[in-house]
Amino acid sequence: MITVAELADGVRADKRAVLARAITLVESRRPDHQALAQELLLAVTPGPDAPIATRVGITGVPGVGKSTTIEALGNHLISLGHKVAVLAVDPSSTRSGGSILGDKTRMGTLAVNPRAYIRPSPTSGTLGGVAKATRETMVLMEAAGFDVILVETVGVGQSEVTVANMVDTFTFLTLARTGDQLQGIKKGVLELADVVAVNKADGDHVVEARVAARELSSALRLIHPRGSLWRPPVLTQSAVEGTGIPEFWDAVLRHRSTLQEAGEFDRRRRQQQVDWTWTMVRDAILGRVEHSDGVRSVRFGVEASVQDGSLTPALAAQRILDAFDGR
Ligand code: GDP
Repeated sequence: MITVAELADGVRADKRAVLARAITLVESRRPDHQALAQELLLAVTPGPDAPIATRVGITGVPGVGKSTTIEALGNHLISLGHKVAVLAVDPSSTRSGGSILGDKTRMGTLAVNPRAYIRPSPTSGTLGGVAKATRETMVLMEAAGFDVILVETVGVGQSEVTVANMVDTFTFLTLARTGDQLQGIKKGVLELADVVAVNKADGDHVVEARVAARELSSALRLIHPRGSLWRPPVLTQSAVEGTGIPEFWDAVLRHRSTLQEAGEFDRRRRQQQVDWTWTMVRDAILGRVEHSDGVRSVRFGVEASVQDGSLTPALAAQRILDAFDGR
C-alpha cells in the first residue's frame, strides 16, 4: 500500500503513474478512499505564497469546436512555457457509462505532449459528485505544477454554472449566428461568460463570423452595462487554422489581471471555496434524506399520491421530511 506521504511526494514530482492513482482516489466514492483523499489534498495544498494557476472553463454545444480549440490553445500555451491540464465535467457520461469529453483521441497532439495531461470526466454519480472530483483533481494538478487548468463542459443542465463556479475565467464558444439565431443561445450562458469566441471563422465564414461577433457584442452590452468591472469581449477564431487563439488567451489574461487589480480575483476564489463547502453540505444532507430508512419506507406511496393528485408537492415534501429519521 502506498502511503499518503508517498502519494503527495509523487504528485508534487509530477510522476504520472502516482498522479493517476491520486486522481482515482479522489474520484472514488468508497468512504475509506475519501478519507485518504482528504488527507492527500491537505498534504498537497500549497502555502499562500505559491504561484496561482489559471483556471479556465470552456463551454459550447457539441460540435462547436471545444476539443479542437483546447488542442490549439494547449499547444500554444506549451509553446509559451506553460504546463496544461485538461479536465472535463460531463454528467451525461454517468448515464452513457463513457465520457464523450476529454477523449484523448480528440486531442491527439496535445495528449502525447509530456507538458499536458488530459483527464476525461469522472463517470461516478451525480453532477455534484463529478464536480467534487473535478475540483479536487484540479488541486492535484496544480500541486504537480500544471499552471493552466482548462475545464471543458457541454451545456447540459446545471453543468455550466457548476464549472463557472470552479474557474477564474469562463469562456463560451459559439458559431456564427445572427439575428433570430441569436435567440437560440441560452441567455444564462451569456450571463456566465467572461470571454466569448465565435469559432470556425475560416474559409467562406470569416465575414459572417465577424458580423455575428458584433451582434453578440451588442447583446452582451445589455447584460454588462457601461461601468461594469469587466465587459466580455467577443472574438472570432479558427481552431483548425489556429487564428485568433493567441488573442483568446490574451483575453483570458486580461480578464484575470482586471479582476486581480480590483481585488476581485482573491475574493471570488475565497467565495468559491465557501460556496463549494455549502454545496457539499447540501448534497450530503440530500443523500442522507434519500437513503434514510424512514424516507425509503414512505417514498413510493408519497410519490404515487403526488402523481394521482391526492397530495400537493408541498405536503408531500413535508411527509418526506417527517419520515426522515436521521438514519
Ligand atoms: P466539440 O464537440 O465542441 O469538442 O467540437 P470538435 O472540436 O470535436 O469539432 C467538431 C468538428 O468541427 C470537427 O470536425 C472539427 O474538425 C471541426 N472544427 C473545429 N474547429 C473548427 C474551426 O475552427 N473551423 C472549421 N472549419 N472546423 C472546425
